[in-house]
Order: sequence, then C-alpha cells, then structure tokens
Amino acid sequence: MSTSDVVRSAIAGVRRELFVGGTWREAASGRTFAVEDPATGIHLCEVADASPDDAVAALDAAASAQPSWAETAPHERAEILRRARELLADRSDTLATLITLEMGKSLAESRREVAYGADYFRWFSEEAVRITGEWKINGAGDGRILTMRQPVGACLLITPWNVPLALPARKIAPAIAAGCTMILKPASLTPLSALALADTLADAGLPDGVINVIPTSTSGATTQPLFHDPRLRKVSFTGSTGVGKVLIENAAANVLRTSMELGGNAPFIVCADADIDAAVRGAVTAKMRNLGEACIAANRFLVHADVAEEFTEKLAAQIGSMIVGRGLDPGVEVGPLIDAAARDKVAALVNDAVHAGARVVVGGTAPAGPGYFYPPTVLTDVPPSARLCHEEIFGPVAPIAIFSTDAEMIRAANDTEFGLVSYLFTRDLGRAVWLSERLESGMVGLNRGYVSDAGAPFGGIKQSGLGREGGSIGIDEYLNVKYVALDVTPG
Ligand code: NAP
Repeated sequence: MSTSDVVRSAIAGVRRELFVGGTWREAASGRTFAVEDPATGIHLCEVADASPDDAVAALDAAASAQPSWAETAPHERAEILRRARELLADRSDTLATLITLEMGKSLAESRREVAYGADYFRWFSEEAVRITGEWKINGAGDGRILTMRQPVGACLLITPWNVPLALPARKIAPAIAAGCTMILKPASLTPLSALALADTLADAGLPDGVINVIPTSTSGATTQPLFHDPRLRKVSFTGSTGVGKVLIENAAANVLRTSMELGGNAPFIVCADADIDAAVRGAVTAKMRNLGEACIAANRFLVHADVAEEFTEKLAAQIGSMIVGRGLDPGVEVGPLIDAAARDKVAALVNDAVHAGARVVVGGTAPAGPGYFYPPTVLTDVPPSARLCHEEIFGPVAPIAIFSTDAEMIRAANDTEFGLVSYLFTRDLGRAVWLSERLESGMVGLNRGYVSDAGAPFGGIKQSGLGREGGSIGIDEYLNVKYVALDVTPG
C-alpha cells in the first residue's frame, strides 16, 4: 500500500464520534473539530466536538452504570481487561499507525506505546482480584477493626497528546479493575487513539456506560459542569503543571479525589566513575524517546568534568546521526514535534541558551516546513541561567553542564520546582544509594534511561504531581477505604 492508502485506511477505520452510554453519536451541537498530521500539516479528519451538555450526558451514563459495575465479580473485570490486552496486541499495527499519524512519532515507537499501554491491562487484570482489606483486634481488646476498599465512583480522566493511547490506558485499566466508571477527555490534538481504545474496550466486553469518551476543542468549558455535579467523585489528570493547578482548584468545589501526573525537569547525572558507553545509551533513550516530548525526558545533563568531553562527543555522534522524517516512513527514528507552537518554543529555548553562552555541538536549526521538525541537538557550556534549565524543553535538545563535586551536582539537580524523575549513572554502589536518597524526585533511573513499567509506581513529588499510576499501589487511586468498628463485648 502507498502511504496515502495507509493514511486513508487508518482514518476510515476509526470512530470519530462521541462514545456515550455504549453508543457512538454526534455532538449535540453537531459541531466537529479538525485533527492534523504534524509531519505534513495536512488535515486528517474531523472529530465530534463535545459541549458541556455532552459532558453531562456522559456523566449521566457513567453515574447510572456505576452501581451495577461496582457489583461485578472481580473475575469478570479481570477477564475484560485480559481480553482488552489481547485485542490491543492483535490491533497493534493499526493502532500504531493512528498514533503516528496524529502525534508524529515513528511507527516503531508507536508500536512500543501500544505494547506499553497493553501492559497496564495485563497488570490490572491481575490486580482486580487482589483488592484486600484488614481485620484486627482494637487496642482495648473489646472491638474489632474491619477495613474494606471500595470503588470511588465515577471518574473524569483527562490526558495529554504526547502518549495518546498508553496514558489513557494507564488510567482506564486501574479504574476498570477497581470497579469505577469513567469519562475520558482526550487531548484535542490527538483524539483518534483514545477513540480507537474505547472501541477496543467495547469489543472486549466492557458494559455500556463504564467508559464514555468526549473529545472536545473546548476542554475547560466542557468539563466545567462535571466539577459541580456531586455524581463525579474523582479527577485523574496527566498534563502540564499549570493546568493541573487549575484542575485541583476545580476539584475543591466538591472535594474530589485527585491524581495528578504533571510536568518534569529531569536531571541526567553522569558521575566520573560511570560506564560512559552505558551512560550514552541511557541518555539517547532518556532524551530521544518520544522525540523528547515526554514528562520523563532528560531535560538537563549534569556531567562530571573528568568525563564531560568523552560523553559529549559520543552523545553528539549518536544523536546527530538519528534519521529525522515522517514517522510513517521506514527507518525514521525522529518524527516532527506536535505543532508549530511546540517547534517554535524549542527553537526559542535553544536561541536563549546560545545567547546566554551555550555552544551548539550538533543540530540547533529548525528546517523549513512542511511539518514541525526540529533536529536532534546537543548544547554544551550551558549556564544555569538559561531558560531551558528551568523549563520543560519537550523536544530533542540535550543541554550539558559540568560539575566537579557531588554536593554541587545534587544542589543543581534539585534546583527545580519539579520532582518527577532523575537519572543517575555511577558504578559506585554506595554513591548510587546515597545520591538516590537525596535526589528530590518520585523516580530514579539508576544506570538506566527508562523507568516506565506497569508494575512500578509511576509518579512525582513537588510540583510534578500527586498519586501514583501502576504498581501494586496504583489501584488505590480508584478505591476508598472504609472502616467498620465492631463491638465484640459478650452479652
Ligand atoms: P496540557 O496543556 O496540560 O493538556 C493536558 C490535557 O488537559 C489535554 O487533554 C487538554 O485539553 C486538557 N486541558 C487543558 N486545559 C484544561 C482545562 N482548563 N480543563 C480541563 N482540561 C483541560 O498538557 P499537554 O501539552 O497536552 O501535555 C504536555 C504536558 O503533560 C507536559 O507538561 C508533560 O510533562 C505533561 N505530562 C506528564 C506526564 C506524567 O505522567 N507526569 C505524562 C505525560 C505528559 P486540550 O487538548 O483541549 O488542550
């Protein structure tokens, strides 16, 4: 098939309406919004544009499905999750094409995203049957303490464009396992992957109303009534810290449970005793995975003076030789950024760093269009005052700064309001533990450039968020604890 046939068939195969109460339907207003291909700037298709009335209809469906869904047997929920995982594997090529089309990353990366999303369905199919409680004697000995964990109720899930299938999966799978119903609001730049995921879940046997999907071009206004409706009990958000703060304020109206997976500013630390080749491999993963458009992307490289030259040369050689192009084309490793604003922001951050004294080792100049490409770039001698040391770059740019002592390095690493992940390369076990304990982040990649794993608790501290997704505590985000006090005084 030619590329245009691949595009036509992928778009023809995906639902583009709202999914409410198990039915695909147009927006109440009849309005649609456009989705475009960031590699070409070409209009791909129109998607139904939900209004506040549609959001309330979605909550009607979720709230009416909630009581019976909460009563389903854990085995039933586990089976649906297991079937969803199998269907995702079967449909991997089609889903990967959709991800690449609307988000831009290479097909190989999109397939890895489908597999990563599917892992959450496997993990939570196993967790659905392990929702435990506690039974114990109270301190005075005259009573018993029974605790149970119950579904929180209807949830609003809001997700970003950078990982358009797996980030919804990371919320949907534990919500299903826990017995919650949900309304998913995907990013307006990338609604197609989320719609295809909902279609897959319906095919896996998820009952009507458990998942409802409302793409919209007016996120704030459309979701607003939900925050004032007592039937909604939780909001789980992945996105920028700025929007997260707005949603925490919105959640205060009805004191909703909140999970917040927010922005990052990850330091990538290379100690003098590190295995430099392993550090370079880790750096390529931590920087270039998802085109640098990842909350866990390495944002600042802190490299010991003794190894800085070798690390910089090797990193520049690897990153500089990556193949840039349309994600659908064979062999391409680096696709376009998501839109013109994202590309212009990356270019402005690089220009600012260069004006502040940084030196460009490779890359550094955006090509002319079409598409929103930015070349893989390495900068050295980056002064701490450069904006990209403090802001998320969200692009394929690796700024390198040098340190001489661990104390200086740890101060620099923690000098940010974010605390999502840190990467640390050292061969000294004592230093590895000492530094891991002192890095202010929810996750540490130790001699490894990748931390995402369905079996691990993903999440940040400081302004990177609240709560954890995945791991054995991930399901707790969707469960309330209830305690029953029993009197056992005889007679
Ligand atoms: P964003 O602008 O915060 O948007 C995220 C989602 O929130 C989108 O669906 C967006 O809808 C919606 N939204 C925006 N304003 C809203 C409002 N007032 N009410 C309700 N929903 C609203 O973030 P983004 O640019 O899509 O994603 C990039 C950010 O996500 C980065 O900061 C990145 O670090 C972070 N992120 C964090 C994690 C993590 O796990 N910690 C993972 C991935 C990404 P529209 O599309 O309509 O604007």
